[in-house]
Amino acid sequence: PETSRWIQMDALQVTRLLPRLFDNDYKNSTGRLTIIAGSPWMAGAAQFNLEAAQAMGCGMIRAVVDPQIYPILQAACPHVVFHPSTQSEADFLALLSQSDAMALGSGCDHLENLDALLETVLKNSSVPVILDAAALRSLARHPEWLNQPQGEIILTPHVGEFSALCGRSVEEIQADRIRCAEEYAVSHSVTLVLKGADTLIVSPQGLRCVNKTGNPSLAKAGSGDLLTGLIAALAARGLNSMDAACCGVWLHGKAADKAIEKNALYTIHHKEILAGLDAFLMDHQ
Ligand code: AMP
Ligand code: MG
Repeated sequence: PETSRWIQMDALQVTRLLPRLFDNDYKNSTGRLTIIAGSPWMAGAAQFNLEAAQAMGCGMIRAVVDPQIYPILQAACPHVVFHPSTQSEADFLALLSQSDAMALGSGCDHLENLDALLETVLKNSSVPVILDAAALRSLARHPEWLNQPQGEIILTPHVGEFSALCGRSVEEIQADRIRCAEEYAVSHSVTLVLKGADTLIVSPQGLRCVNKTGNPSLAKAGSGDLLTGLIAALAARGLNSMDAACCGVWLHGKAADKAIEKNALYTIHHKEILAGLDAFLMDHQ
């Protein structure tokens, strides 16, 4: 395919896009992110979102979670301010108005009011919204919610989730990932991150990026939850949706590449991926 309009990410590009920290920065100036994630039996997905967002420098992280998983997340992520998923719509809207970006869906499979929360977010939020996992499956059941979103939307499906969204079979998508991704992103006006080895990122205008960082240590449950946290943090810090998606995907893969310099491919755990991110940032700040 014609590649002149493809976005190329490399260490220099990413480093130039990363927001600087200034001497007079404080928590509300370095990105206010609200994450709806996890549910009973899947608390880990929320923890991975929240740890990745902090590792990416996000200053103020709030999480909306099922009260059943709150105690374990409070212990795992003391840097986060928590709100119950059962709070009133008025309280939830107040939270939205204090957010520079929102992420929704990782591990939300058993979150009772996920559909209602997603509809409220898409109808009321004017900031970038990142949808993952269960939120993508919810969106596949309610495609009309994408008709008039107030702000920019980033979707992060793997091929199975993308199949549900676009109504094509996995085989059909694999045979022509670029065209399928491009058609969907442009016709639905979203930034689409189609995950896998060689993740594709397509903007609503049809700009394309193919990612070359990463390795099979990421072929593990939880990897995608880290990615969602990274992209959401970058969006909260003010990168536009395409830059946040391309940077987040590149850094996620790079972090895994750093991790396998020091650990066996088999044994990589989310802590090593975040340590890999730190190692890259230490060299490139
Ligand atoms: P998920 O399926 O939601 O857990 O997301 C998995 C994440 O790991 C995505 O960002 C994928 O692109 C990445 N990933 C999975 N397998 C590989 C692989 N073999 N090489 C590079 N990245 C991978
Ligand atoms: Mg996932």
